Amino acid sequence: MDPRFIDTIPSLSYNDDKCDDEYAFVKALCMSGGDGTNSYSANSRLQRRVLTMAKPVLVKNTEEMMMSLDFPTYIKVAELGCSSGQNTFLAISEIINTISVLCQHVNKNPPEIDCCLNDLPENDFNTTFKFVPFFNKELMITSKASCFVYGAPGSFYSRLFSRNSLHIIHSSYALHWLSKVPEKLENNKGNVYITSSSPQSAYKAYLNQFQKDFTMFLRLRSEEIVSNGRMVLTFIGRNTLNDPLYRDCCHFWTLLSKSLRDLVFEGLVSESKLDAFNMPFYDPNVQELKQVIRNEGSFEINELETHGFDLGHSTYEEDDYEGGHDEANCIRAVSEPMLVAHFGEDIIDTLFDKYAHHVTQHANCRNKTTVSLVVSLTKK
Ligand code: SAH
Repeated sequence: MDPRFIDTIPSLSYNDDKCDDEYAFVKALCMSGGDGTNSYSANSRLQRRVLTMAKPVLVKNTEEMMMSLDFPTYIKVAELGCSSGQNTFLAISEIINTISVLCQHVNKNPPEIDCCLNDLPENDFNTTFKFVPFFNKELMITSKASCFVYGAPGSFYSRLFSRNSLHIIHSSYALHWLSKVPEKLENNKGNVYITSSSPQSAYKAYLNQFQKDFTMFLRLRSEEIVSNGRMVLTFIGRNTLNDPLYRDCCHFWTLLSKSLRDLVFEGLVSESKLDAFNMPFYDPNVQELKQVIRNEGSFEINELETHGFDLGHSTYEEDDYEGGHDEANCIRAVSEPMLVAHFGEDIIDTLFDKYAHHVTQHANCRNKTTVSLVVSLTKK
């Protein structure tokens, strides 16, 4: 690593302190690979809907970037937290098509485009790269763009790209993953995340870690992106402004805590094992997000939109076990590697049977506070 970063960013080091051993399962963070029944690729419909919803913001920012940079002949795009499967290419295709259509409109030669796919090294890049020929074929038909795909394995809480090299950065449903589990969660026993019954200290610990991580992310990207370059970032967030502990009774991590407590009750998991598992995750509200962006200072906010979040609850009836199972599979696909690393493989099927059951108990819950937050930024 560049020694200048070690000097200026002491908290950058990823997974290097005492939490490392305590929360060793965080090293397993990645989505379930492959394309089988339990894979992320086969269980990421929600994330696909979210990508579609953020499309207008992405198109607008791509067009504005091209115009404000006076139609560069070379463009470098980064997709951060690309995961495995087809979702990886949705935003990138949108960016390339937008550039291509815009260039035709104003009668300019389209640029050559480098597309860098980033995720943690544990990610199943093989499954992702198998889609590259389809992506290229599709592009040839729709936009005739010259585009080159690269992998960029590593944490987005570290430097990934050379200075002043990126023109547009996109990331969807990845930045709510923290670099580590916060410290000082001792009083949040029996829960894998904040719930309405958690102590204030749990909220403070999570918020503090989010602020550190997202500040770091912005600082690092500000070094990699050109002036007037754009970022479009989508998070899982919450729309509550008052009670920072409030989470819906059917929040996905609340249901996971419940399912794990069932296993403790049945003697399949020890209480201490459950207490030692906390999600490296944070769902900010709009204020918290804005505050970090303003304090860090490298980027101007263009748009900040809030959209509904729907894992599928509202589309089925109570006791619809199949519907519950679909939702359980979505959560399984994003958490299984970490759960296996901590609890072992044997409990996973039973755990998500419990989860599916709990989901069906909440089929009629409305007024949920979980949302998707889309923010677009310009590098000052
Ligand atoms: N963007 C995809 C995938 C979302 S899943 C989609 O919209 O479907 C979130 C992805 O972020 C996972 O693949 C996870 O491995 C990745 N991720 C989480 N923390 C990361 C980090 N610090 N650096 C890079 N990728 C990370």
